[in-house]
Amino acid sequence: RAKEVGRNSFQLFKPAMNARSLERLAMMSRLQNAIESDEFELYFQPKQHLNSGKILGVEALLRWQEPSLGVISPAKFIPLAEELGLIVKLDLWVIEQACKELTKWRQYDIEAGRLAINISANHLRQGLLASNVARLLEQYDVDPRKLEIELTESCFISHFSEAKQELLALKKLGVHITLDDFGTGYSALSYLTKLPIDTLKIDASFIAKVPDEYGNSEIVTAIITLAKSLSIHVVAEGVEKIEQLNYLQMLNCDTIQGYYFCRPIAKQQWYDFYLAKAQSA
Ligand code: C2E
Ligand code: MG
Ligand code: MG
Ligand code: MG
Repeated sequence: RAKEVGRNSFQLFKPAMNARSLERLAMMSRLQNAIESDEFELYFQPKQHLNSGKILGVEALLRWQEPSLGVISPAKFIPLAEELGLIVKLDLWVIEQACKELTKWRQYDIEAGRLAINISANHLRQGLLASNVARLLEQYDVDPRKLEIELTESCFISHFSEAKQELLALKKLGVHITLDDFGTGYSALSYLTKLPIDTLKIDASFIAKVPDEYGNSEIVTAIITLAKSLSIHVVAEGVEKIEQLNYLQMLNCDTIQGYYFCRPIAKQQWYDFYLAKAQSA
């Protein structure tokens, strides 16, 4: 009986699996030319400093607008780009766009703090990130202190010393370093003292359960306390509700990011958002 069910479900699922791997194959072949075809776009999601209410910075988030497949999430295509060996090329495109954007900020007096970009763990391990960043900052004549790099802990698991060297070199340039998605996966608290981390971002999965779920709020409290005692700036990501904001404010969290303040938005909308905030301030 079990065997029968097993066989039936196998048949049921087979076409679905094929459709998924076909979609994956289609994405893979299209990803190869997506940069040249100008199909990528950066969206922007501001971060709000809690005490002042001001925009502390803004994070650039990659979007792929594929002509026939539509908008594809980075959660889907970043792993594919890593598999295809395209991630460094993609990261370089993002760094260059960020530099161009920062040139514009200077030109139009946009005082929006830092511009943060996400960099893949794969890229960091290859040992060329700091030199690539240095070259582009120089080429566009951008102040390194305006650039922030968000990295996840997975960067440090397998190649700790290489990753550390890269971070030290980035720090020396003046780039701000943020540990993204903090508290998930392979968190090692010692990273916070062994690496030059300026900011940590508490993962959205913790924030989602604040303030209701017992145990969870205690973890968030502990992370904020730890960060404060190490003089590391704390950002809470995925803040969607006023209750979460109030609770985080009570805990003395420095900065929030999430749909509550602003969703990731296209470039023109981001300028409008910035101007509206700047006028009301
Ligand atoms: P991340 O850096 O942790 O970015 C936060 C993700 O949460 C973003 O998803 C954002 O759109 C989403 N988000 C922001 N606020 C909220 C909220 O209040 N509620 C909910 N439910 N979600 C929220 P997105 O844009 O799909 O990006 C997913 C991940 O892909 C990013 O996670 C980052 O790790 C990676 N990624 C994005 N852009 C790039 C890039 O340019 N280069 C690289 N290497 N990775 C990128
Ligand atoms: Mg991020
Ligand atoms: Mg994150
Ligand atoms: Mg996250």
